Amino acid sequence: MAFEGLSERLQKVFSSLKGKGKLSDEDIRKVMREVRMALLEADVNFDVVKSFVKTVRERALGAEVMESLTPSQQVIKIVDEELTKLMGQEAVPLNKAPHIPTIIMMVGLQGAGKTTTAGKLANRLKKNDKARPLFIAGDVYRPAAIEQLKTIGQQLDIPVYDEGTDHDPVDIVKNGLAVAAENKNDYVIIDTAGRLEIDEQLMEELQKIKDLAHPNEILFVADSMTGQVAAKVAHGFDEQLDITGVVLTKLDGDTRGGAALSIRSVTGKPIKFIGQGEKLDQLDVFHPDRMANRILG
Ligand code: GDP
Repeated sequence: MAFEGLSERLQKVFSSLKGKGKLSDEDIRKVMREVRMALLEADVNFDVVKSFVKTVRERALGAEVMESLTPSQQVIKIVDEELTKLMGQEAVPLNKAPHIPTIIMMVGLQGAGKTTTAGKLANRLKKNDKARPLFIAGDVYRPAAIEQLKTIGQQLDIPVYDEGTDHDPVDIVKNGLAVAAENKNDYVIIDTAGRLEIDEQLMEELQKIKDLAHPNEILFVADSMTGQVAAKVAHGFDEQLDITGVVLTKLDGDTRGGAALSIRSVTGKPIKFIGQGEKLDQLDVFHPDRMANRILG
């Protein structure tokens, strides 16, 4: 289960406080040392942990706890609030173009879940907004990726524009956008190539697609199982492409929490959706407060 280790650790830390009437400075310091350890073990980025612990410690040593009748509950409340803040405070909706089509570009490393998430997103838009999306198959390096997108398109009854693997992805996107204009599709979702790690050639290609398509949304798809590495990679993509949002995938697995808790702070970009399974209806809007509650149990 996601965040299991982190949740257990935090619950244990806080249960040691319960029943205590007054908290001493030393009690707070001890708790914060343990919170710090729990976050580091959950693979949260070091700088993020440092500043998080500092903020919570300062608040916890302040009047709102020291003068409270229920100091331990107050500390838990502060941790809850600061975790929520760390993950972005509020849900952030998908950007929408003033005129159709809204163009969404999916980027990320290979295997992160780009193609699956493209499908999930289209499914959501079709169901909730009665949208008529078009997919563009821009991952020309893996024939399997195009096939995968076509299969998803068939399942959802959503058209896929592709030119196989022999054409330049920038041209494919250009031609796909022309088809979308002709068919008056209200959303265009561009699936792009990934690599095993950030590579200059790929970034150049993505930049060209961005310059051509002027996407309203560049969603970085991050595998939450990769922990704080996901935040680092997101930062790399953001520097090159100025991403507009993040989708965290595989939160149905036993991810430790490092990605969810680091990525917003490291990139400054909102986590917009979370993937919670392989099926096409397993994409949810990301709510930082609900995630914080899930972590605190
Ligand atoms: P891409 O290379 O980035 O396009 O990645 P894919 O969309 O092909 O996904 C890689 C693998 O991750 C596939 O087996 C997907 O079924 C799986 N996957 C994607 N999102 C999720 C998710 O939220 N949960 C789980 N359990 N698996 C996922």
